[in-house]
Amino acid sequence: MNLVILGAPGAGKGTQAKAISENFDIPHISTGDILRDEIKKGSELGKKAVRFVESGKLVPDKIIIKMMKKIIGNSRTKDGFIIDGFPRNLKQAKMFSSVLDQLGIKLDKVINIVVDKNEVIERLSNRRTCSVCKSIFSENGNGHDGRCPKCGGELVKRKDDDGEVIKRRLEVYEEETGPLAEFYAEKGLLININGSGTKKEITERILESL
Ligand code: AMP
Repeated sequence: MNLVILGAPGAGKGTQAKAISENFDIPHISTGDILRDEIKKGSELGKKAVRFVESGKLVPDKIIIKMMKKIIGNSRTKDGFIIDGFPRNLKQAKMFSSVLDQLGIKLDKVINIVVDKNEVIERLSNRRTCSVCKSIFSENGNGHDGRCPKCGGELVKRKDDDGEVIKRRLEVYEEETGPLAEFYAEKGLLININGSGTKKEITERILESL
């Protein structure tokens, strides 16, 4: 199963991609997680990406395309994948299609999680991410006491989950990523999923539609 998951920041892409990845036993590839790890390591890629990630802008296409070509071509993805955070604009989507064609890989579906803008702002402001397993929680929920209930890792607030940066990320999403829904609808690949409800309800909606 070769899948892409789209949606505004805070729509629940990461959480749902993890659940779908576990369900089908396919790797979850999150470009945001990869970039944050590279930034933490202080790698060359991390150094190039940090100012874009922390200010809520897109990392330049050239850098992302190089990174994704390596990932899509590697053996980990040969039995399927769910990609979260890529493509992020039409240029990336077109390049992605041509790389998949070259490798003889067919995209099965593109899941688009749709959530009201006010709800995503609220979710992003309260979001905490496990620094180890990358699971996502709400500051107010789960009685987690600052530690991940799944693995015990420290729960952290992402630097870009903050006031002005959230606003910029949503603007970037509307202008650059939003048009991808139409791009994939025209290819007959898009499934729109109502992203309101519990994590389990949304996972079930996605699984039923696949
Ligand atoms: P995310 O975790 O998907 O919300 O991504 C966090 C940040 O990483 C974004 O705001 C961008 O700065 C950067 N990023 C992630 N994926 C991409 C991409 N495909 N193209 C450009 N920038 C990206």
